[in-house]
Amino acid sequence: MSDEISDKISDKISDKENEQGGCLCGAVRFRFDRGAVLASNHCHCRDCQRSTGSAFASFCIVPEASFELAQGQPRSFSVKGETGGVVTRSFCGECGSPIYSSVAVMPGFCFVKAGVLDDASWLEPASAFWGSSAQPWCPPMTEVVHARNPDIPLP
Ligand SMILES: [Zn+2]
Ligand SMILES: [Zn+2]
Repeated sequence: MSDEISDKISDKISDKENEQGGCLCGAVRFRFDRGAVLASNHCHCRDCQRSTGSAFASFCIVPEASFELAQGQPRSFSVKGETGGVVTRSFCGECGSPIYSSVAVMPGFCFVKAGVLDDASWLEPASAFWGSSAQPWCPPMTEVVHARNPDIPLP
């Protein structure tokens, strides 16, 4: 991305309600426009369990145009997701914190991990994906549980 374009995005984001976050060690920082968030969800798929080391991943879905890295460059790892599309997970190469994922079946959006937001208290996860692989000791927390990933309607 050219500096000119990233400057324009910075201007655009700073005009709106900013949300910021970063990894555990502080090497990677990012920000996005809170008003552009499409949805917030949990995912209980086995890949999210492995990549987070936990029972599920929590994230919010942000248009790429409303998201920018403010510091550092995450590493990434791509894998074929359970529905067959490629999922690329970006994480801090220093401390390993998951930062965001890009999902081939939903291009143009970042799935930003809730746990790396400076303040994630405002999120209202609307549904849980892949309830079929939820661990028995941590059942889905929302009333709307998709056995598999649903087709997420684009705005
Ligand atoms: Zn880090
Ligand atoms: Zn998942």
